[in-house]
Amino acid sequence: MAASDSEEDPGAASASGFSDLSDSEFLLLEEPEDSAPQLVDSAKPSSSSELPRVSTGTNMTENGGGLKEKRKRSQTPLEKYFLKYLCVTDISTQSWCEQQMVYGRERPELQPPERVSLLDAGKSIHLARELEVHNLVSVRTTSKEDSWAIKLLNLLSMIPVLQTGHRVREFPVFGEIGGVFLVGIIDELHYTAKGELELNELKTRRRLLMPSKAQIKKDSFQVCLYKYIFDSMVQGQLKPENFTSHIGLRPEQPLGLHIKAHAQKAGFTVASLKELLDLAFLNLTLSDIPNIDRLKIEYIHQESNALLGTEEVPYERDQVSQEVQYYLAYWKGQRDVRGVDIEEAWKCNMCAYSSICEWRQDQVAEGPFQRSGSKKSK
Ligand code: SF4
Repeated sequence: MAASDSEEDPGAASASGFSDLSDSEFLLLEEPEDSAPQLVDSAKPSSSSELPRVSTGTNMTENGGGLKEKRKRSQTPLEKYFLKYLCVTDISTQSWCEQQMVYGRERPELQPPERVSLLDAGKSIHLARELEVHNLVSVRTTSKEDSWAIKLLNLLSMIPVLQTGHRVREFPVFGEIGGVFLVGIIDELHYTAKGELELNELKTRRRLLMPSKAQIKKDSFQVCLYKYIFDSMVQGQLKPENFTSHIGLRPEQPLGLHIKAHAQKAGFTVASLKELLDLAFLNLTLSDIPNIDRLKIEYIHQESNALLGTEEVPYERDQVSQEVQYYLAYWKGQRDVRGVDIEEAWKCNMCAYSSICEWRQDQVAEGPFQRSGSKKSK
């Protein structure tokens, strides 16, 4: 039993970097409030991208009987937006254009309206696929700990399925990279005829054609990041403490009655989040689940469900590590937000934020975008 979702492409397309949606994580945006019934696996992480650093300033504080000027340090984007974790899709969206990702958070009203309907359609396709391998049940939650317990129970229930060589869908992954907690949902994991563990990422498209090279590059980075996090998990690199400290969960918090009942039905007897965490991480690390061997992206036409094509994605761990560290540096306030480089200035032509984009205006004023960038198309 479990549930999940996925994402979609915003019609207009490539310029937004969303011309193929797929991911389950976008569903996280719909994570229900505590105390509301939840789909047992729709434990999608809630998205979390964000804005540039807030400017520094000063304020007056009381100190030793008098007012003293105290310098406030800059808030990082993570702090400013109270983000306890990021989703893999946040990072892949950032890889298309960091500045666009920031505007997407700051000015969502400027996004093309068709994106919402595309996301809905993509989610339906993902849901249909998920229902092929398990049922969805809703479970009432009464605390933040309960909500995360659902994610862990989904993970726990999929471990034996993978161990016995079967297919799983909407597999939750958690990881810590460079001090930042990351959450994701892998669309599908299965074994090939050769016994290799293969990740299959489903992307749905409005248009009846394969995406651009740039779009495929963004999607490829996303699946590489899934592998990076998954491999670390099965190697035992993520600890229960990482999980609770980043998210601010109370490990000793007793689980709600509905969660405990659901866990019992699934064969697990747990009373607190800590017990569930220990059980999940023990099962994961003691299992013989291997690292992911192959990465594949499947592009499907949204309306007809026709397969448009598949992409085999090469994986280079050091390169993925380097790239994700670069993106996380923004979130940690170690560098300012950046827009696209001149080689990718063509993205600005289809960007909903081009009329307000300060990065673009600066580049145009300095010359390079005028000379060649905006004419390029990929
Ligand atoms: S106009 Fe260009 S640089 Fe600015 S957000 Fe859009 S794609 Fe990025």
